[in-house]
Amino acid sequence: MSTAREQLVVMKFGGTSVEDAKAMERTAAIVRGRRDKGLCAVVVVSAMAKVTDQLLAAASAAGRGDKAGALAISARLRHRHIDTAAELLEGEQFTGLQPVLDQEFNALDDLLRGIAAVGELTPRTNDLVVSFGERLSSRIVAEAFLQRGLNGAHVDARTCIITDSHYGKAVPQESAIEAKLVEFVLPLVEAGKTPVMGGFIGSNVEGITTTLGRGGSDYTAALVGGGLHAGAIEIWTDVNGIMTTDPRICPDALRVKTISFEEAAELAYFGAKVLHPATILPAVQKSIPVWVLNSRNAENEGTKITAMAAKCASPFKSIAAKKRLTIIDIVASRMLMSHGYLKAVFDVFDKYKCAIDMVSTSEVSISLSVDSNQQLPEICAELAKIADVKMEGHKALVCLVGEDIRGHNGIAGRVFSAVSHVNLRMISQGASEINMSFMIDEEDVEEAVRSLHRVFFADPDASVFDVTARVQVESKA
Ligand code: ADP
Ligand code: ASP
Ligand code: MG
Repeated sequence: MSTAREQLVVMKFGGTSVEDAKAMERTAAIVRGRRDKGLCAVVVVSAMAKVTDQLLAAASAAGRGDKAGALAISARLRHRHIDTAAELLEGEQFTGLQPVLDQEFNALDDLLRGIAAVGELTPRTNDLVVSFGERLSSRIVAEAFLQRGLNGAHVDARTCIITDSHYGKAVPQESAIEAKLVEFVLPLVEAGKTPVMGGFIGSNVEGITTTLGRGGSDYTAALVGGGLHAGAIEIWTDVNGIMTTDPRICPDALRVKTISFEEAAELAYFGAKVLHPATILPAVQKSIPVWVLNSRNAENEGTKITAMAAKCASPFKSIAAKKRLTIIDIVASRMLMSHGYLKAVFDVFDKYKCAIDMVSTSEVSISLSVDSNQQLPEICAELAKIADVKMEGHKALVCLVGEDIRGHNGIAGRVFSAVSHVNLRMISQGASEINMSFMIDEEDVEEAVRSLHRVFFADPDASVFDVTARVQVESKA
């Protein structure tokens, strides 16, 4: 039997969608719904909620030589996973899986003991430690699918997701991945099974475990969708879709019904955690529609990400914010415009693989915003050889995104009057023409986002935004 690509759907379930036995039950019901419609699902799962953070904490405790602390975290995780499996699985299925989980945890404990003994945590061993989160969750979900008649088949993602060796943020090798997916995953689909693999993890060509960066399970889903030429990619999470801003900041945020790839990519890049920034690319290249859906409210239509933006009466679709940034001011009065100077500055950032979010220049200085990371002191020390350097931490970037900015005059004025009470630094009207962004102090973010949301989503276009929740509130008032 061969599977038509329109019938193939890659379904990614994030940490909260597999956080416990009940969430995994919901996940199974959602996958059953797709199979009942005659679709073939390939499932990508994250680690159970918060497990990645805990594994990182265990790795860093071991790296400090705190063996007992690291093993205590691992023991708690062992209980959580085994208890979840016990709740989900019956009889022989549980007794069959338990030794597999125990074996994984024994390997994790050995690894943590080894790290504690040498007292050094390398990026490579850090990746190996965090990989256990997705390795374990995918095993349990695959087994749960098997018991529920969904023909679950576990696939170790590391056999398919081939990457370079940039530990912590490995770059996927798409043609190698496609070949592996065709070799290992497609035959399972064609045999009527539901392959289940962990997101986020991969391996380099030597078989050494790597990870794709935080939030990377979305990226895995897009790579699998792209590699298998799927008909759709579904990102199942804990909110109704892409919203007009993070609902944790603004509880009255509205669901955006459709958004373009370009807008979604911009939002993800500028901090909307709902999608990993690299997710969109493999999908765009193969023109695969991406849906963002809520596993706690599966009936909701979610957000459809499409090639073209729908016409919208509002200038913006959504507001994103990214914290933990640092502004670096580089002052070199006579040098700035001299040949090769800017290249020398950017080469320093390149050397440390440090991505720059925003750049602004004046006659004598250039200001850059970057993620606050551990290498900033080294970066600044190198820059200090060619300029005066000043660093200011605890900054945040607020970014308003929408293809329809182009058609609206006077937008900048409305944005700045909405946030006139906060101190703005580095304003940019987006080279891409679909975003407007500025830097502010981290502590002002929530207030600024809420003010902007009040102004720009007071009268939302019902063809693009789901206004039903707001209409219900207003009719009760
Ligand atoms: P998952 O574990 O499913 O990958 P994440 O926590 O990574 O979920 O992403 C979902 C979260 O993203 C939501 O709970 C929400 O708080 C946050 N978020 C930030 N910006 C947005 C936005 N514009 N729309 C929806 N969710 C957003
Ligand atoms: N578990 C990983 C993380 O927490 C990857 C993901 O969930 O997408 O970052
Ligand atoms: Mg995520």
